[in-house]
Amino acid sequence: MSSTSTLLQGGIALVHDTNDHVVPTKTSILIENGKIAKIAQNIAAPEGTVIIDCTDKIISPGFIDTHHHGWQTQLKGRHANEQLLEYMVTGNSQHYQYSSEDVFYGQLAGMLEGIAAGTTTVVDHAHITVSPDHVRLAIAATASSGIRSVFCYTPMMRVKQFNLLGYHSNIFEDWVMQTFNEIADHGPFGTGRVTLGFAFDSFFLPAEMIKDIFAQVKAKGVKTITCHGSVILGKSVVQNLASLDLLDESIIISHGGTLKKADAELVKAAGAFISSTPSTELQMAMGRPYCFDASFQDGGVSGDSVGFQDNGSLGVDCHSCTAGSIISEAKLGLQNARNHFNEFHMKQGKIPRTLPQNLRVESAFNLATIKGAEAANLSHEIGRIAEGYDADLVIFDSFSPSMVGAAQHDPVAAIILHSSPADIDTVIVGGVVRKRDFKLLPVPLEGCAKKTAGQDVLGWNSIANEVVTSREKMQKEIDKIDFKEAKGTLIKLFHIDESKFVNV
Ligand SMILES: [Zn+2]
Repeated sequence: MSSTSTLLQGGIALVHDTNDHVVPTKTSILIENGKIAKIAQNIAAPEGTVIIDCTDKIISPGFIDTHHHGWQTQLKGRHANEQLLEYMVTGNSQHYQYSSEDVFYGQLAGMLEGIAAGTTTVVDHAHITVSPDHVRLAIAATASSGIRSVFCYTPMMRVKQFNLLGYHSNIFEDWVMQTFNEIADHGPFGTGRVTLGFAFDSFFLPAEMIKDIFAQVKAKGVKTITCHGSVILGKSVVQNLASLDLLDESIIISHGGTLKKADAELVKAAGAFISSTPSTELQMAMGRPYCFDASFQDGGVSGDSVGFQDNGSLGVDCHSCTAGSIISEAKLGLQNARNHFNEFHMKQGKIPRTLPQNLRVESAFNLATIKGAEAANLSHEIGRIAEGYDADLVIFDSFSPSMVGAAQHDPVAAIILHSSPADIDTVIVGGVVRKRDFKLLPVPLEGCAKKTAGQDVLGWNSIANEVVTSREKMQKEIDKIDFKEAKGTLIKLFHIDESKFVNV
């Protein structure tokens, strides 16, 4: 929390009206004690206020990423031409290479990449629960980065060895829920910015066991639980949750573009949310991103799929596969949805006269802001610029080479279609400036992070150097892996019907 007040003077703020339309408003914004204290044209700044001149700047609500694996920085670049099964070996399973210190630097760099790109809140599906120390340092890195996070603790299948690929047999060894409970009792972290959520993908376990785990988690006050949209035991994740009576407003389901109409009805009735991650979904045969209803006029791949726009939000998923920018996911998802809408009509020899309301840039912007806040059960705190809300704000330079012209005509279009992280001058989370003059600020370390880093503050260059060193160390081990064997083992483990593979 900031002890001083900050005045954002004279910018164009993107303020949502009562119908959730964005109204670009010339105004100043006073931030006090981490909150938006006042929005008005002329504000007399209290003594000692830090003034940020926002002339020719656009002030946006911070962006909200509802599905991200924050630890994967050292794996960036290697999945460029991979499908999901390949990634499961070269990416997901490489948690095996990470020491707790590797997790610290991977997580810290991953969260800072998000901040640099305007993400102020992340729902982290943190499947890096290799040991209690891995989790503690992942949380310390998240808290130190300055981002707001729902850190979803993830009991997971841990790799025991490669060549031959094998896993630890028990996902819920005693330490797993003991560590969860300890962390829950110690949190929240980062002066309240980092709260504990939970992630669960083990629907093959006995029903009573799953119910008991969810009960333990909720007893600790967890409000957000996230699950991947996989099919387990022949049932969609929605059906699995519903049959256990666990589908409620706490749930965020990531991916699953093949979910059926019946699933959608269950999700909507429960007030649950989905997180679309267009980059990875489009690349890795995970179905159509389902956050835009109008892209499902043909019923999707199964002919029985639907969009979830009212209950939709956006995620980056793996910054090892794609840029950690929720704005770029919004743009990709929107243009992909527009393509499906247009193609549906063109196939019938028709010409769409215009784009429907729910495929406008404002819809993409809202998925990345107010809808993300709803998904994370934080819609009364974040996602919009309003008095009393947390001061999570992103300031764009409307005179940058990519934004000038567009920013003056339609700031929302400028952000969604024209901007990149390079256009983001300043990022503020909970009233604290984390990026300024287009550069990430040095990071004061929190908790056990200080001991790991051996210092109290880290600048970006030091963090990048640590990532490079850590990556090189891991790569030496990764080079020894028999990937063909590992893929074969996963095919058996997941009961994948090999006759369905397409050779290219
Ligand atoms: Zn994921």
